[in-house]
Amino acid sequence: MELDKMDENDWKYHGEGNKSLVVSHVQISRVLRLLKYPAEDSENPPQTAEQAFRQIQNIVDFSSNVMSSLLGEKFIHSGEVVKLPLEFVRQLSIKVQHQRPAWRCDKVMDIYSGCALCLPNLTSPALHQPTHTPPLCIEIKPKCGFLPSSKHVSKDIKTKVCRFCMHQHYKVANGKWKRRSLYCPLDLFSGSRQRMHFAIRHLIEEPQNNFKIFKGGQCIYSSKEGSDDSLDLNSLLHHLRPYFMYGNNRINSHMMGKAPLNDFIQFLVNALLSGGGGDGGLVMDRRGEGRSFCEASPINKERIRHGSQGLPSDSVLFRILQTQMLDTLDIEGLHPLYRRVEQHLQDFPKERSRLQIDGPYNEAFLEKLQKCPTEDDGSVEYAVAKVHQYRVAMTAKDCSVMVALLPSTEEEEDDEGISSPRRLRDFLSSRPPAFSYSVSILDLDPKPFDSIPRQLRLDQKIVSCYLRTGGALP
Ligand code: ATP
Ligand code: ZN
Ligand code: MG
Ligand code: MG
Repeated sequence: MELDKMDENDWKYHGEGNKSLVVSHVQISRVLRLLKYPAEDSENPPQTAEQAFRQIQNIVDFSSNVMSSLLGEKFIHSGEVVKLPLEFVRQLSIKVQHQRPAWRCDKVMDIYSGCALCLPNLTSPALHQPTHTPPLCIEIKPKCGFLPSSKHVSKDIKTKVCRFCMHQHYKVANGKWKRRSLYCPLDLFSGSRQRMHFAIRHLIEEPQNNFKIFKGGQCIYSSKEGSDDSLDLNSLLHHLRPYFMYGNNRINSHMMGKAPLNDFIQFLVNALLSGGGGDGGLVMDRRGEGRSFCEASPINKERIRHGSQGLPSDSVLFRILQTQMLDTLDIEGLHPLYRRVEQHLQDFPKERSRLQIDGPYNEAFLEKLQKCPTEDDGSVEYAVAKVHQYRVAMTAKDCSVMVALLPSTEEEEDDEGISSPRRLRDFLSSRPPAFSYSVSILDLDPKPFDSIPRQLRLDQKIVSCYLRTGGALP
């Protein structure tokens, strides 16, 4: 990829989130992640090119120096900042505009700074020949996997119903989604295969923005916001069949039709419990209780057959959960500390850089949050450390996990190809896999310091909405 010879015809629309738009290269396994900002500001960008460059460099630093050490290097690809020709960016923005979902168009792509984040394309990890079975990638945005136990929590309901489930009621009440998702993060993070299976089934039924499937780099399964269309499970089954055709023996012919879906979920559960790649997922050294339930999850506690010892300590979910749990005070306990820092910065504006409020996100930043005293000594240092911890936890509550199922490379592949019954059965059991998989974490942006007051207001709105309507909705 030569940065001075960029051609918009080599790139296509790949997807977007709330903060960035992603385009992928048509030949090499690369994506460009460009910033977005509110459409109202499209005439005058909210920041200079230099500030945009700094913002993206901060993302890279935060991911590589802070999140990677907390989540595990093997899961992280931090990428690099690139400077693109403005004409290329302008043409690109015109080219992708008509493919963007309408509900995302309240924001526009940044065409002024020429800066972008260049990352490996995790949905198309290697160049695959069109004659071979393409890689299958599953993106899960798991959200917060624990119930707060902070003494600062003022509403009892927050210790019984998880944030995601309460937020669902709020989103339906505000028309963001037509139907509530029955996915509950506490089931996914439980470490119990049965509960995880249940959680993933609900992600498939109502993906919203928590679940997507890519085949050969192309999104083949996702939700459309505000849309009432029921998703096409048959078409999903059709896509999955070549990968998951020969699972366990199914006698019942009705079950036969759905078997690939069960094997698919089984594969995901295995990948999420494993150490992250190709090793068949030997599960040992489980940590945590795995006994916490959310009262809003439709799972029947009495019917959980096997108690769970929690997540294996080398699994991606364990690492994400541990990082999320750096939020020890809950937003209600954190907010007064935020205020302490804010007051201090008003009195001593120059302290902003020493306290690393807006970075740099380097080892010193990581050290600040890891060496936080357990008791509040009334200092601004304590308050800053808790705020840093909270912001890191927020990032971990918002990241996505990408699980890629990779057909074997040519040397490994025998004449039977990947649809060989024996090899696939080996793969689905705990014997060495017939084709490999990898697990990555993406979307590890630092959350701004001044987003904290907004978090408190949102928390209050979600809880009061739930208390008002929660019991009443189906
Ligand atoms: P959010 O609203 O979740 O915060 P965001 O605006 O921060 O999203 P990302 O989640 O980083 O943006 O990217 C948007 C989407 O683009 C992702 O959900 C994913 O589908 C896709 N994507 C991002 N990075 C990559 C990558 N390296 N490889 C493949 N696809 C990617
Ligand atoms: Zn829940
Ligand atoms: Mg995202
Ligand atoms: Mg994000």
